[in-house]
This record gives sequence, C-alpha cells and structure tokens, in this order.
Amino acid sequence: MDYPDKRGKFGEYGGRFIPEVLMEAIQDLEDAYERFKEDPHFKSDLENLLQNYAGRPTPLTYCSRLSSEYGVRIYLKREDLAHTGAHKINNALGQGLLAKYMGKKRLIAETGAGQHGVATATAGAKLGLKTDVYMGTVDMKRQELNVFRMQLLGANVIPVTSGSKTLKDAINEAMRDWVSSFPSTHYLLGSVLGPHPYPMMVRDFQSVIGRETREQIMRQEGRLPTALIACVGGGSNAIGLFYEFIEDTEVELVGVEAGGEGIKSGRHAARFADKKLGKKGILHGTRTFVLQDEYGQIYNTHSISAGLDYSAVGPEHSLLRDLKRAKYSYATDEEALEAVKILSEKEGILPALESAHAVAYALKNADKYDKNDVIIINLSGRGDKDIDTIMDNIERMRRLENLRPPR
Ligand SMILES: *Cc1c(COP(=O)(O)O)cnc(C)c1O
Repeated sequence: MDYPDKRGKFGEYGGRFIPEVLMEAIQDLEDAYERFKEDPHFKSDLENLLQNYAGRPTPLTYCSRLSSEYGVRIYLKREDLAHTGAHKINNALGQGLLAKYMGKKRLIAETGAGQHGVATATAGAKLGLKTDVYMGTVDMKRQELNVFRMQLLGANVIPVTSGSKTLKDAINEAMRDWVSSFPSTHYLLGSVLGPHPYPMMVRDFQSVIGRETREQIMRQEGRLPTALIACVGGGSNAIGLFYEFIEDTEVELVGVEAGGEGIKSGRHAARFADKKLGKKGILHGTRTFVLQDEYGQIYNTHSISAGLDYSAVGPEHSLLRDLKRAKYSYATDEEALEAVKILSEKEGILPALESAHAVAYALKNADKYDKNDVIIINLSGRGDKDIDTIMDNIERMRRLENLRPPR
C-alpha cells in the first residue's frame, strides 16, 4: 500500500498541522529522511546497530503450553528481548542515527512514562549526542526510577510544570524548544504520531518487526499467520508488525486499545471503541481519531499501562480501520492484569502491561480460531518496569477468572 501520499496524508488522516515557525525544521527533516533512507552507508550503519547493539533479530517464540490449553497455535514476537526491553529502541536508534547524518549535536524528546525517554537517552549515549528529555512533573513523581535511569544514561531531564504537567504538556515544551534549536537539534518523536514525516518515518523504523516475523514464521510454520495481534497506544509496535503484511489480505490484523475501567466508565484510552468521545480531530500536528469532549477539548485518558495512555492514535491506523483492513478491539485493565499472570505462569514470560492487552485479546478470542490456525502476538515489552503496579493490584488479580480456558 502506497501511503502516505506526498503531503503525508493517509487518506483523510495525517498531514502536517503545525505553526509556521516549525515549517523549516520539518521540511529539513523530511528532505534528510528521503535522502538517507536509501543511502547504503546509512542502511548498513543502522543494520549494524540493530544487530550488534539492540540484539536483533528478536526471536519468534512458540507457546506450547498456551497453545494446547487454548486450542490454537500461539506465537510471540519477542520485542521484550530487544535492548532496553521494548520495541522503542528500534525507532530511537533510527532517528538518532538520522540526526547524526544530518550533523545535529543534540536530541530532544518528550516522555510520559519514561520509556521513550530511556530509549532516547540510550541512543544519545551510544551515538554521542547530548540528550534533553522533557517530562511533566506529575509523571516525574510517578516514574522516579525511569527519571534516574535517564540521568544515569547521561541525559538531562527537564521538568515541565505547565498545564496538567503530563505527557501532552511535555510535547508542547519540546516543540517550543525545537522552534529555536532545530539547526543543531533533532526532535526524536516516540510513536507514529505528529506531523509528516514522523508517522511514516517511525513506521519505517519499526517495520523491521514485521519483516523479521514474516521470515521467521515461514521458516517455522511454512505459511503465513492467520492473525497478527498488537496493542495500540500511538500505534508504533502495531504498525511495525502489520506493515509487512498489509497486502496479504488473508492475514487478519488486530489492534488492541486500552479499555481501562470499561468503555462506559469513560476512563479508558479507546479512541476507536468509544463512539461518543472518539472523533476525528487534530492533535499535535496530525489529523486522526482523538478522544475529545463535545466542545473538542482533549479528553483525559486512563489506562493501567502508561504506554497506552494517550488521547490520539496514529493516523495510519485510522485509515486501516476505515478500509476495514485492520480491526480494532480493546482489553480492560483487569483483563491485562490477568493476561500478565497467565503468560507468566504458563510460559515463564512476564510481559509489559501494554503488551498484556494484546495477549488478553488473543486468549479471550482463542475459541474463534481453529486449532491449526497460527496467531502471532507482538510482545512489545517486558514487564519488569510494571512490577510496582502489578503488586499494587495483586488482590484484584486473585479474583480474576474470565480469560481462563474452559475445563
Ligand atoms: C510505549 C509502549 C507501547 C505503546 O506505544 P506504541 O507506539 O503504540 O507501540 C507499547 N508497549 C510498550 C512496551 C511500550 O513501551
């Protein structure tokens, strides 16, 4: 599929809705990306970083115990085994290297939970680029460990005290910085969001996930999978897995949003599932589905997993949904917690809470598949970062039953 078009549009979504003062920075970035993405030196440098630093290719693991209990062949794409414990490093190294090729000396980034900040700080350290990460003071308090981690990696964490003191305010501050600093600074955006070329560029850097998966499943099963399942925050790990398979229309693509405390509660981040609050709009430079109130004010989201807790979704997902090429569902906080427990006990893998949403969907819907069908779940990250949250919810977890297979 040939998206986006020259203007960065995915059908009616995407595009570039930015203040005039950012136009030059964005145009320079687009020109450089178009130039270097086909450059043999850039490609081999990136390949080398991914293989010999980030630990790629990541394995495709067959889950024998889950498969026999749930009656379908279940595989996990192991992004949890990538360096720093999640898929975010693929994009951070790609953009970090691009910044170096552009002659930039400094990286800036926004972070909510700190995961993207850690990936950016890691890339900055590896590539020798000064790194400043904007983070709301509310998030800094909630994610103290990641703040310390970034500092250990040599990054400077800049507290943001405006607005709600969370992710969206950190994005605003990073953009403000970039307006005056772009001749020497690259803004390293963390998901398939923001103005063109970010949604395309981040997708391209993450699509290594799907390319590896295709090769691995052909080797291990000799056929294409029945379904690919991934959680969707901004949507970068999902599109990274899906992209290579978009033209194989027999492969079902399923994105799983954060259902939080349930759609009716209003406390969730399910931009597609909530027909009342999820509407077309513009946020941070791109047109897409955005959770908003009746006046168009951005609606505050909730999810037990910080990485899925954002009001907008990547524009390419909005198009895939309209085209019915991908379908979107959701898992609740409780279902994600239960999936953490099941995957840990049955396969010895502790997933990130984000990834557990995809696992929960797969287990809940396993009976819709035949026992010879092959489903691949993107395990976007490892769960060590979530231990505190999981411990706080352990009582709730003891009561959970609804994802268990029938006896
Ligand atoms: C950040 C994060 C996500 C959500 O981001 P996407 O852009 O939707 O992939 C999912 N899983 C993990 C482990 C993350 O750190």
